[in-house]
Amino acid sequence: MNNIASATLPASVKRPGYDRRALQTRIVHFGFGAFHRAHQALLTDRVLNQNGGDWGICEISLFSGDELMSALRAQDHLYTVLEKGAEGNQPIIIGAVNECLNAKLDGMEAIIEKFCEPQVAIVSLTITEKGYCIDPATGHLDTQNSRIAHDLENPHAPHSAPGLLVEALHRRRARGHAAFTVLSCDNIPDNGHVVREAVLGMAHQRDPALAEWIAENVTFPGTMVDRIVPAATPESLQEIADTLGVADPCAISCEPFIQWVIEDNFVAGRPAWEDAGVQMVDDVLPWEQMKLRMLNGSHSFLAYLGYLAGYQHISDCMNDTHFRDAARQLMLREQAPTLRITGVDLTGYADSLIARFANPSLKHRTWQIAMDGSQKLPQRMLDSVRWHLQNGGEWSLLALGVAGWMRYVSGLDDNGQPIDVRDPLADKIATLVQSSSEEERVSALLTLKEVFGEELPQHPLFIHTLHAAWQSLCRLGAKEAVARLARR
Ligand code: NAD
Repeated sequence: MNNIASATLPASVKRPGYDRRALQTRIVHFGFGAFHRAHQALLTDRVLNQNGGDWGICEISLFSGDELMSALRAQDHLYTVLEKGAEGNQPIIIGAVNECLNAKLDGMEAIIEKFCEPQVAIVSLTITEKGYCIDPATGHLDTQNSRIAHDLENPHAPHSAPGLLVEALHRRRARGHAAFTVLSCDNIPDNGHVVREAVLGMAHQRDPALAEWIAENVTFPGTMVDRIVPAATPESLQEIADTLGVADPCAISCEPFIQWVIEDNFVAGRPAWEDAGVQMVDDVLPWEQMKLRMLNGSHSFLAYLGYLAGYQHISDCMNDTHFRDAARQLMLREQAPTLRITGVDLTGYADSLIARFANPSLKHRTWQIAMDGSQKLPQRMLDSVRWHLQNGGEWSLLALGVAGWMRYVSGLDDNGQPIDVRDPLADKIATLVQSSSEEERVSALLTLKEVFGEELPQHPLFIHTLHAAWQSLCRLGAKEAVARLARR
């Protein structure tokens, strides 16, 4: 059957300009999701195009993805990224992936052995927050998690990402192989620390001497990752098929913007990512905080209030001048003052974010961004609220954003239509919503310690401001509530 490996593609399609036969698996990546395909793999491909080399990637999927991986194999591990910008679209065929393994297709043992090959230098991950199996209340490995409990019982046949990493490191140590670098590329605060906690937590439970060896020999650099990559849809795949003249089931569309900031602390080498524009730094946390608060914080604000107002996509919100002004004010007046980054033009950064959000070709759904809010709200909005309560700043848009989340998880939009609320705490939230009246809703949801912690729900100014924002939202609806604040 014709596919992107065998078809003659239009001349406008960028293709690997390097010798793919030289690739070896030097990077093993967990989670061949939308983001990795358009971010880390693409930037590694860019370095290969510039310098050549052997930095191939083996893609691993544990729980699903067998169809995707079968399709990837059938097209010689090539796939398409379509960058969609104001100036037009650029299709790129990515060649950096040289193999893939799937638990269902190949078995876990083959996956573990792949990590043990001596030339493997980096294990990277985009497995979303829940993949790390960390208990949010303690910040440590959740030993009650069923996969972790299984792996502690069966350490040589693990199911979880932390269990696999520890078993692979155990085997490497026993065989006298050097360790590898573990590189989390998930959009979670202090991702290097989170994956370190997960791996060392698991290793400690198994064997303290192994944990010590890992602590001495493995590094866990933190990263800040940025590129908007909406999930593939039948429409986005059709658009790519029309562009190429052949279908690519592994293809993904994204915006042209891309940023990756990495702590430069690798134990067994790395691709020269800086040649592809990646920023290698000593401390990634100020960068991560800037991105989580300015980009993700305003994204969540637009997602909750925009969804309630009937806007399906982020770009639809940006066509409403009040939403656009409110997002920019949120970034510059309420988020920027809380940051500790230096040497960055934050006004320029905010303007570039507004332009990216307005990209009409991306079709980034407010519903998709609104998902898992209980996990996102703390780092995107509530840490900034805490800063303002301590430092005396202005935070009415943050309050409206938090009230917007409360209204969203209450399950009805401003037209009275039901909302499909997806969240790891959905059951708990639904119970609180059902057992409270509209007037009681804020107090009811503030009992969610996982989201609000202990102190914030006791703070009189926080309670007062949040109630005021909630009332404005219930009385005026999201469109007018946003407009009133934006017009101030
Ligand atoms: P996705 O759903 O397309 O991919 C998620 C991947 O994680 C899949 O391969 C899935 O199999 C794997 N996975 C899920 N649960 C797992 C578990 N328990 N253990 C192991 N693997 C598991 O999502 P995505 O858009 O690729 O996002 C992945 C990560 O990238 C997220 O942390 C997200 O915050 C981050 N990110 C995404 C974007 C974006 O625009 N899509 C932008 C920046 C950062």
